Amino acid sequence: MSEKLSRRKMLSKGAQAAFVGAVGARAVPAFVPAPLKSKPTSTKGVDYYQKLGVTPFINAAGTYTVLSASTMPDEVQAAIALASQQPVNILELQDAAGAYLAKRLKCEGALVTSGAAGALTVGTAACITLGNKQAVLNIPTDMSGLKNEVIVQKAHRYDYDHALRNCGIRYVEVETMDDYEKAFTNNTVMCHFFNAAEGGKISRQDWIRVAHKRGVPCFNDAAADVPPISNLWNYTQMGFDLVTFSGGKGLRGPQCTGLLLGRKDLIDAAKQNNSPFSNTVGRGMKVAKEEVVGMVAAVDWFLSQDDAAMEAEFQKRADLIAGKLRALPTVQTKTFIPEVANHVPHLLITYDQNRIQISAAEVMQKMRSGKPRIELNPGTGGAPASAGLPGGPNTIIVGVWMLQPGEESIVADRLYDTLLAALHS
Ligand SMILES: *Cc1c(COP(=O)(O)O)cnc(C)c1O
Repeated sequence: MSEKLSRRKMLSKGAQAAFVGAVGARAVPAFVPAPLKSKPTSTKGVDYYQKLGVTPFINAAGTYTVLSASTMPDEVQAAIALASQQPVNILELQDAAGAYLAKRLKCEGALVTSGAAGALTVGTAACITLGNKQAVLNIPTDMSGLKNEVIVQKAHRYDYDHALRNCGIRYVEVETMDDYEKAFTNNTVMCHFFNAAEGGKISRQDWIRVAHKRGVPCFNDAAADVPPISNLWNYTQMGFDLVTFSGGKGLRGPQCTGLLLGRKDLIDAAKQNNSPFSNTVGRGMKVAKEEVVGMVAAVDWFLSQDDAAMEAEFQKRADLIAGKLRALPTVQTKTFIPEVANHVPHLLITYDQNRIQISAAEVMQKMRSGKPRIELNPGTGGAPASAGLPGGPNTIIVGVWMLQPGEESIVADRLYDTLLAALHS
C-alpha cells in the first residue's frame, strides 16, 4: 500500500470518528443513491391537491396571479419533466436560452426571469448598475453616486411600482410633454412605461424619442399583453430598450417565469443583478433550470399558435355559453375584447334583477362553492379588479381563454341552473 493511500485511509477514519462523536454514536444509516435516469419515467405522482385538501377549479376567470394564472400545455410540461432529471450549469443554460429567445423574438438580448415583476427589478437594476460592479453590491441601500430617478407618467403608476423601488429608485411623475421634457436631470436613470395604462397623454413613440434624445433607456411593462403574438417583438422593435412579458399569463409557461427582452448590454447587466449571483438584488428571484426550459418551451409553443385561430376558438366558447343563457328571460350577452392587456374575447352577461333575483356577486359565490368549483372573472359584479373590462353590479364576466377543452359546457350549464333558480315569474 502506498504512503498516500494509507494516509487518506487514516484521515477518513478520523473524520468518521469525529462524525460519530457528534451524533452521539448512533448508527449512521447507509446512503442509498437514487437511480440515475436519462429519460422521463412514467411514475405516477401523488395528487397533492387531494392529499392537502386544496380543491382545484375550472378557470373561467383569466390569468390572475392569485388564481395561479395559467396552466402549461402538454409539451411545456413534458420539456420541464425531462429537464428536471439532469443537472446543468445555470449560467450556461441562461446564456443559451437567452441567445435562442433573442433570435426567435427578434431582439438583441433576452433573459428568463422569475416573472415580469422580477424582470422589472433586474431591468431597473441593470440601468442603475450598467458598467459599475460596485453598484451591484450597493443597491438599494447605498445609492450615493448612483442615478436613481425614474420618470413615469402619472397615469402609469400602478401596483407593480414596488418592483422598481426595490432598486432604490424614486419616481418623477409627469403628465404633459412639456413636463416630460423638463423632468430630465443628471440623476435620470430610466423612463418607465406601463403598456396597458389608460389615460396617459404621452404616446409610446414620443416617450421613446424624448428619452433617447437624452440618452436614457426606456422600459415597457407589457406583462399581460400577448396575444397578439407579434407584441413579443413589436415593442423592442419600436425602440424600447427593455420590455417584459409575464411567462405565466398568455404565454402559458411556468407561473414563476418572465421574459426580459431588449438591448444586449442591458440584458447582460440584468444578469449580473440576478440569481445565481449571491450578493444581488435579484438573488431571491431565483430561476431554476425547469423554469428556464419551461419558458423557452412555452415561447416555442406560443409561436406555433395563430392569432386568428386562438380568437376564433375563444369566441366559439363564449358563443356556446351565451347561446345557452339567452334562453333565460331578460338575459343579454356580448363579447368584449380589451384593447391591450388580456386582448381576448370575454363574455359579458347582464339580466334584469327584478326577474332574476340574484346579484352577479352572489352568482360568483355560488359558482365558487359548487361542484366542480368554477372561478368567474374577478371583475364580475363591477369589482375594482375589472380593470379594462366594462362591468357593473349585475354584470357577470366569463374569461374563456384559460378553459380546458369541454369546460365551456360545464360553465354554461352551471350558470344557466344558477340563474334559472333565481328566476321569478
Ligand atoms: C402580471 C403583471 C406583472 C407581474 O407579472 P409576474 O409574471 O406575475 O411577475 C407586472 N406588470 C403587469 C402590468 C402585470 O399585469
